[in-house]
Amino acid sequence: MSHLIKNGRVITAEHDYIADVFVEKDKIMTIGQNLKVQADTTIDATGKYVIPGGVDVHTHMDMPFGGTVSSDDFETGTRAAAFGGTTCLIDFAIQTKGQKMREALDMWWKKGELATIDYSLHMIVTDLPEAHMEDMNEMVREGLTSFKLFMAYPGVLMVDDATIFRAMKQTGENGALVCMHAENGGVIDLFVQKAIAEGKKAPIYHALTRPTTAESEAVNRAIALAQMAGAPVYIVHLSSADALEKVSEARDKGIPVYAETCPQYLLLSIEDLERPNFEGAKYVFTPPLREKWHQDKLWEGLKKNTLQVVSTDHCPFCFKDQKEASHKFPTAVRVSRIASN
Ligand SMILES: [Zn+2]
Repeated sequence: MSHLIKNGRVITAEHDYIADVFVEKDKIMTIGQNLKVQADTTIDATGKYVIPGGVDVHTHMDMPFGGTVSSDDFETGTRAAAFGGTTCLIDFAIQTKGQKMREALDMWWKKGELATIDYSLHMIVTDLPEAHMEDMNEMVREGLTSFKLFMAYPGVLMVDDATIFRAMKQTGENGALVCMHAENGGVIDLFVQKAIAEGKKAPIYHALTRPTTAESEAVNRAIALAQMAGAPVYIVHLSSADALEKVSEARDKGIPVYAETCPQYLLLSIEDLERPNFEGAKYVFTPPLREKWHQDKLWEGLKKNTLQVVSTDHCPFCFKDQKEASHKFPTAVRVSRIASN
């Protein structure tokens, strides 16, 4: 099967021009102007960009959360991704406390059978007794090479520093990568409890109870732990200038730290959480939206390669469900649970 995509705008490392792209057996064979080749199909891309398929390294399809499940499963989510030009995504298998990682992984591979594009998985580790260490090595040998740990959500997903250190020590040896959700969950929970006691329950308090310092502290700690463990670390969904500064400082020293941000942090701000009639709830996710000036710093971080990746952290919940959940659950639970990971 071959395709000729004609007259699209093609940007390569060298050129930005109107060109034809000839694809044969899923491989780009030639890019050039007025290609004279025979193809099974010809597509007119006049007025359009021709870009390679995107890889979204951070999504949550069919993810149980707070008594509900993220509203896209692997079928609808990957179909939507394909429409947007994303041809591969990496989701997360979640190990619940006491569960074997292998069991969780098998469950998520099964969910993924519905996928319509390429996909892979990271492994979320919530429990790492000594007996499970070998499981990590086994997964790496099978090709699953990234493990995500949480410094937030105490009692649910959060692990302590010793666990993070041990996981990093292991990945330092087996060549895998630890991905960190870096926010100081213990302190955030105290802020949340205080806000609720004072009756401060509007969506804006989701951001006000998760300050940027809680993120930068955790990023800094994650980097220090990685350094002590002799392993690289990858910070997921970095949202603030304070946290970015910690990554930048470490990278300047040559420490192997990598980080991603997401479109929501580049394009939206804390003001969106203040939209009237509970509309602000549509902008609740974690880490929360920041003051607008952080956006410029993040864009700069991308330009300077302090941030290496843009992912979506796609983890959708329907507005209606959220509203209903807000009535069903005590607010303390709701505040931490309607957030995405
Ligand atoms: Zn996430």
